[in-house]
Amino acid sequence: DTVIHWFRRDLRLTDNPALSAAAKASEQVVPVYVLSDWKKDHAWTGSIRQQFLCGCLDSLAKNLHAIDSRLILRTGRADLEIEKLIKETKATAVYFNRDYDPYGREMEKKVQAVCARHHVECLSFKDRVLHEAEEVLTGDGGPYRVFTPYSRNWLTKEKTEAHGRLKSLGPAKRIPSDELPTLEHWKLPATDADLPAPGEKAARERMKDFIENGRLMSYLQRRDIPAGLSTSRLGQDLRFGLISIRELYTRCSAAMAEAKTPNAHKSIETYIKELAWREFYMAILWKYPEVFEEEFAPEFRGMPWPGTDKDFEAWSQGKTGFPIVDAGMRQMLATGFMHNRVRMIVSMFLTKDLHCYWKQGESFFMQHLVDGENASNNGGWQWSAGTGADAAPYFRIQNPWTQTKNYDPEGLYIRQWVPELREVSPARFLAPPKDGKALAKGYPLPIVDHSEERDRTLAIFAKHRGK
Ligand code: FAD
Repeated sequence: DTVIHWFRRDLRLTDNPALSAAAKASEQVVPVYVLSDWKKDHAWTGSIRQQFLCGCLDSLAKNLHAIDSRLILRTGRADLEIEKLIKETKATAVYFNRDYDPYGREMEKKVQAVCARHHVECLSFKDRVLHEAEEVLTGDGGPYRVFTPYSRNWLTKEKTEAHGRLKSLGPAKRIPSDELPTLEHWKLPATDADLPAPGEKAARERMKDFIENGRLMSYLQRRDIPAGLSTSRLGQDLRFGLISIRELYTRCSAAMAEAKTPNAHKSIETYIKELAWREFYMAILWKYPEVFEEEFAPEFRGMPWPGTDKDFEAWSQGKTGFPIVDAGMRQMLATGFMHNRVRMIVSMFLTKDLHCYWKQGESFFMQHLVDGENASNNGGWQWSAGTGADAAPYFRIQNPWTQTKNYDPEGLYIRQWVPELREVSPARFLAPPKDGKALAKGYPLPIVDHSEERDRTLAIFAKHRGK
């Protein structure tokens, strides 16, 4: 029998549940990736993440070749392409790992319908998360809307062990395959962003480096410092499934046994909690897919966001005159990555200092982040905008100057990403210039006054709630 494995966000051979099950069930697995024929007509995808995807597909093709198999690439709508493949290969089953965002789920249903029509088995597997939305429910069987009780429950659930690397998928099938894609495929412009190395091997090295070389053990102390390499940088690897969440968790748990100090122990716990945030937002998106269209908190739907295009433009180019904001935006444009603390600062700045609609920022991030993930990005943006799943209310408004003092007091991060400011004393990054003069030639004055805009935001929210 021949069976099909449909690769999606699981571009790896190690601990891949659907792929392993396919290999166990059949002597010949046809591994397929379907490139959508989308061509630059929505605001959610950009060159950076697609460039990374191209590299990951190239690496996956090589890894499959090394075990005498062959990646089959097709272009178009996944269900229609899989239907053609079923006919071409006479496959008796289709295997895939589940996706939790509404677009992925919709396509899964279509693939299931195709399989049913052709009397072919269709088997889907849990892979992207340790616990799916339906596994972590409140006492009365409903979904959580707040993180802390969710995470408490999530932590107590039993975690599945990771499996090893797949050794064989049977002989390669001689059927046509499209070429590996380049950015041309989506009509996207070339990018010179400095991206992480793509592919399973590079991702596994990043995972091991984070765990074995001390960063995991000092995560608690360093995670909020944007300068340098303070966090795991595994976002894109989890996003594209280059590493398995089970393996990451298993390795962190094993490190726990070796943790010699309370700090090291607490660091690992804190890191694991971040992994729970990821699954919390996926569970929210699963239960409430409407968060893509509107505010999670119903009382803030339909609120005015009077930000201007000009201010949005300044923000998106890193030219607001707020050094920490500009550094974050420029880090993202240059590398596809922005540190979490700075993601919070720039998103709160866009929504609460510039009053721009959070969805504008959400899609700008999706266009530029290499780890751009619908669930986490939407969750992060709604959290910052004050409209999301958050125990703290909307009037939490961070002050970018104070944030700089707390997390980049020596200006290391700012000076790395804003070259105009390299010669400026870091003390000057902690408050707006008192003399009304720009910090450096060509660098703008702050485009707004934080405390005035803070009051304006509070007034807008209060007025809307009072309605
Ligand atoms: P680490 O600190 O090492 O964390 C490890 C992993 O835990 C991350 O890779 C990620 O998978 C997960 N994680 C950590 N924090 C969060 C969080 N707050 N929410 C969800 N998952 C988390 N994360 C994305 O993966 N994709 C996004 O598109 C994304 N957009 C964001 C937008 C905003 C406005 C904000 C405030 C946060 C966003 N995050 C997003 C969450 C977080 O910033 C990134 O996961 C993190 O910076 C990635 O770097 P890291 O792997 O070094 O993180």
